[in-house]
Amino acid sequence: MSALAKTYNRKKIAFKKGSGSFLYATNGKKYLDFVQGIAVNSLGHANPQLIKALNNQAKKVWHVSNAFIIPEGEQLAKKIKQKTFADYVLFQNSGAEATEAAIKVARRYFYSIGKPNKNRIICIKNSFHGRTLATIFASGSKKMTEGFGPKVSGFDHFKFGDHKKLKKLITKNTAAIMVETVVGEGGIKVIPKWCLQGLRKLCNQKKILLILDEVQCGIGRTGKFFAFEHAKVKPDIVPIAKGIGGGFPMGAVLMNKKAASGMVPGTHGSTFGGNPLAMSIGNTVIDIISKKNFLDNVTKMGNHFHSELKKIQTEFPTIIKEVRGIGLMIGLQLFHDQTKFIKKLMDHQLLTIRAAENVIRLLPPLTVTKSEINLAIKIIRQVCKNYK
Ligand SMILES: *Cc1c(COP(=O)(O)O)cnc(C)c1O
Repeated sequence: MSALAKTYNRKKIAFKKGSGSFLYATNGKKYLDFVQGIAVNSLGHANPQLIKALNNQAKKVWHVSNAFIIPEGEQLAKKIKQKTFADYVLFQNSGAEATEAAIKVARRYFYSIGKPNKNRIICIKNSFHGRTLATIFASGSKKMTEGFGPKVSGFDHFKFGDHKKLKKLITKNTAAIMVETVVGEGGIKVIPKWCLQGLRKLCNQKKILLILDEVQCGIGRTGKFFAFEHAKVKPDIVPIAKGIGGGFPMGAVLMNKKAASGMVPGTHGSTFGGNPLAMSIGNTVIDIISKKNFLDNVTKMGNHFHSELKKIQTEFPTIIKEVRGIGLMIGLQLFHDQTKFIKKLMDHQLLTIRAAENVIRLLPPLTVTKSEINLAIKIIRQVCKNYK
């Protein structure tokens, strides 16, 4: 009997080692891993450059307080600033912490300009921003909030795509709109370019902030460093996590100068946030993703995967309803509950993970090869053939 809390229904499998796109299980089998810790291991398992970076840092300094200068963090923040819209970076340890910090940043901005009543955040109903008290109520999901009252107030919700409702929700008390650029847990739903551009315009008109949660879709996952770059918009605040650590726990909130202006000394803090071990990894991940052609290859692999899945959809139109996603953030939507299909894929040594709306998420490492994608395609087709 496991002494771990029962918050997860775990699959009966454990792994002893990993290498790139593959995991080796204690049952002796080799699995193609298209979960990668839910889009966390952006560079695959046991990446030699990340191992080297971590080992080098481990021999020097593991941890110092943010009361002192951390050169590795200064360096990473500067790299992020050079690459993105951000003027300032606040390091955290997880996605939930990063989105929660994003909420604090937005509220604090309006407080600092003498508008403390502008504190409400508009979010998509049943989105996902993490599991802290504030972020579960930001999601507006009944399942995640049930039993965790009293409700953390300050969040208003509209259904994905309901632009009328969204506009109606904006009042004089609204501080920001916060959405996932690509809705992940909610079913791999890409917010269209024109819609992101509309959101930016709307926020400008109403003088409110735009927060784009890129915890899952950021750091190269969609073929651009950030998913919002496809639409050529610039948000004000962006929480990141998952992919930036390549498997090492870290998160951050990125801000433009205006949004960051309320975050003066003493307004936020984190014991572990920006820890030298995490920073050494983050620096290496950014360096690798920034290499020429790296992101072009993500796009190429994503397009290949997408078009091969489309072929399977045409072959099995009663099983597969839709192929969703962008780059290497792909969702295969079934007509029926996906649990059995995921189990069968696992029996064929392909690991995938669910999302809402009967979606199977396919999240290979950004370093995936064409032959690995073809192997996954072969397995998915095989499972379709023998389905039911
Ligand atoms: C995973 C995720 C989070 C929460 O990240 P944790 O590290 O699990 O706290 C927040 N937002 C999005 C979009 C995510 O996918």
